[in-house]
Amino acid sequence: MEVRKSEDSLIFCGITPGTIKMNRIYDAFSVFMKDKKEVDGSDRFNFIIFQNHGPSYLDHFTFDPKYIIKSLKSSEKRIVKANIAGGIFVAITFIIDVFKKISDKVFRLIILTDDGAYKIPYQYITILEDLIDKVKDMPFFIDVIRLNSFDLQEKGNLRKLAQQTKGKLHDINDIKELNSVFSSLSKKKLVQVPGYYGKKNAKTIPERNIPFYANLADDPTEYKGKGTCAICFQGGNNEMIKCPSCDIIIHKRCGAQWAKMSSIGISYVFRCHNCFNLLKLEQQFVFDVQTGRIPAEKRPEKFTHRDMINYLRELEEKRKPKIIQVNDPMVIEEEPIEEKSNKKNKKKIKKKIKMIICPNCSHLTTSINKECPKCFYYLQ
Ligand SMILES: [Zn+2]
Ligand SMILES: [Zn+2]
Ligand SMILES: [Zn+2]
Repeated sequence: MEVRKSEDSLIFCGITPGTIKMNRIYDAFSVFMKDKKEVDGSDRFNFIIFQNHGPSYLDHFTFDPKYIIKSLKSSEKRIVKANIAGGIFVAITFIIDVFKKISDKVFRLIILTDDGAYKIPYQYITILEDLIDKVKDMPFFIDVIRLNSFDLQEKGNLRKLAQQTKGKLHDINDIKELNSVFSSLSKKKLVQVPGYYGKKNAKTIPERNIPFYANLADDPTEYKGKGTCAICFQGGNNEMIKCPSCDIIIHKRCGAQWAKMSSIGISYVFRCHNCFNLLKLEQQFVFDVQTGRIPAEKRPEKFTHRDMINYLRELEEKRKPKIIQVNDPMVIEEEPIEEKSNKKNKKKIKKKIKMIICPNCSHLTTSINKECPKCFYYLQ
């Protein structure tokens, strides 16, 4: 079954500074956000821009389009030429972190760029393709808008990345078309519903990507004390576990049963019913509970899980998102000007970059970073 869901959109603004008036761009972003808000008030937004010291974005998606424009305006003066590869990588790692914490969202990346940005180096294409293959089932979509662009090779590369997610590349040669293209992109994407484990025609995560998703999920902590299970509202002697994100206590068996209701397309990876954090249990245990080999706890009739959109609104009311800046994980170092003329202006990548998954917190980064940007674990 195909449905439309609440969407979180990240707009990557990779326009060469000084080539067009920024107001034109804010206008187009506003059209996009306004059109989306009219259809679904639960859609949220974010942006990525490049500043002197690397890519910047809000540390949370926001419900508030005005806040996006305000934040962009406050950063406008420091915007520099964008690195498309680094921006895509940062966008995806940010979205992975959001996916770990919330359910039932469709993630969108919209890249607005021209010929002035750093092109995606040939050797990074495979890293990006590999990354996109993993996240496209979240679900995740890329659409690209190229403004006044003649670079066929870069267009081809970006088109390929977008098509991998069933997205498109849009060519614009007249800035006047920008608003209408953004307006057309505001339409929701159709996605398949992840099916419950064992159901026919259920959408599942492809076998090759199961380790990636299982790795994102937290192991619940053991709970030895006395307490009441937050799913069945009973105590008893059966093993209890704690969500490491919100500290709520549940029976392990209740968790295994609940996994059927909040499946992401892998039988034993599910979300906490209280805080939506991604959790996992042993595959065999979940199977045994769900097939009745291990008896389940009795569930109350009125059990409901928390409404996610209200939960996200509460979070944003408590704290407005802040602009943060990170290292460019795919930095492209330009040669000094004297050397440039001899070598036909070719940009050179000094270090060969590898993708790294932090062994401590499973955050994705590249070998540019000596320590994990998220948990500061030393990566060598
Ligand atoms: Zn229980
Ligand atoms: Zn939780
Ligand atoms: Zn880490």
